[in-house]
Amino acid sequence: MKPLGPIPAGFETLDGELSIGGRSASSLVEEAGRTPLFVYSRDRLDARIAELRAALPERIGINYAIKANPFAPVVEHMAKLVDGFDIASGGELELAQSVGLDMAKVSFAGPGKRDEELMAAIRAGVTLNSESAGEVDRALGLAEWLGMTPRIALRVNPSFELRGSGMKMGGGAKPFGIDEEQVPAIARKVIESGAEWRGLHIFTGSQALSADAIIETQGNVLALADRLAGEIGAPLPKLNMGGGFGIPYFHGDEPLDLAAVGAAMTQKVASLPDSLAETELCLELGRYLVGEAGVYLTRIVDRKESHGTTYLVTDGGLHHQLAASGNFGTVVRRNYPVAIANRFDAQPEEEVYVVGCLCTPLDRLADGAHLPRADVGDFVAVFCAGAYGASASPSAFLGQGPAEEMLV
Ligand code: PLP
Repeated sequence: MKPLGPIPAGFETLDGELSIGGRSASSLVEEAGRTPLFVYSRDRLDARIAELRAALPERIGINYAIKANPFAPVVEHMAKLVDGFDIASGGELELAQSVGLDMAKVSFAGPGKRDEELMAAIRAGVTLNSESAGEVDRALGLAEWLGMTPRIALRVNPSFELRGSGMKMGGGAKPFGIDEEQVPAIARKVIESGAEWRGLHIFTGSQALSADAIIETQGNVLALADRLAGEIGAPLPKLNMGGGFGIPYFHGDEPLDLAAVGAAMTQKVASLPDSLAETELCLELGRYLVGEAGVYLTRIVDRKESHGTTYLVTDGGLHHQLAASGNFGTVVRRNYPVAIANRFDAQPEEEVYVVGCLCTPLDRLADGAHLPRADVGDFVAVFCAGAYGASASPSAFLGQGPAEEMLV
């Protein structure tokens, strides 16, 4: 038997089934008309932002990194809750425009921005979080050609990293951001060019569950920003402090101690250096905002035994749940939280392997899981599916196509 990850708190039972947004799993599938299906809960999005607002000092804004979940109704809903957005491509820019986001609140990070993407962002009035000296030169040249004033911040590659993060995006050689030593000269060039100087973006990592590590990094970010502002010789209009707040996916993961992070940030904000006194501060979060609000529902299409092992074969799989299958940046595969959605109140009684419908041994949703008895037609729920599920999985693989998505 292998343990399952922890089901996020607050998922309730309705008529014996998992309920999401007050609706039973089977009624959601009926409304969607098919499985596999991602269901995202408005209530859970609202609750998460409310918790954050309560814990963080008012001075710190919350930006949503659209990459975590670009489903248009989710992005539209987030627009009512957050202070800004991070986009990572021309495609996300188009999405942001199509749902009517305020472009003055949008910033664009990501290495390898193409000229067309830079031009579209400059035209739209989006802030470029520029990732290199070359990108700054191209942006300035393109803006001149367009006859427009670009809004430019610099993404810094700091010399420190976010300890314990699942993905490190700072410390040493990185394709992301501008090495901190090079930042002052490039920032001065931006300012002297007449571009609108928007400050610094320091994003150091993702999926950290240790409050201590996040607090330490935020201290380092503020100290670095203070030093760089001095070396640049101009105030920072804005400092995007990154984030990296993680969510528990696996057995033994403990939720981030948000109260501790909030208390430390409140203290730091109360004693900011003079250089940052007037600076607008924000965090940039993705999975922490949306990850636990989403559930992936897939139908069991076959139940079979092989050499004493029971397989529940579903109509979903790694083409929508790459991370849950263990093939997205994990070294050792571990189980995400998984349940039989329409038998949510039943006791576990057997050990099963839940697999997807793809013809590859990589397509695993739960290994050696202790679950209630389930048969063909029952629904398997994979939790923590609100971030990097639908959009970060190879849905075209084997001609399967995307899952259905709904916000309830
Ligand atoms: N911002 C940037 C620049 C990123 O690279 C990432 C993730 O890779 C994020 C935000 C979102 O990270 P997370 O979803 O872990 O909060």
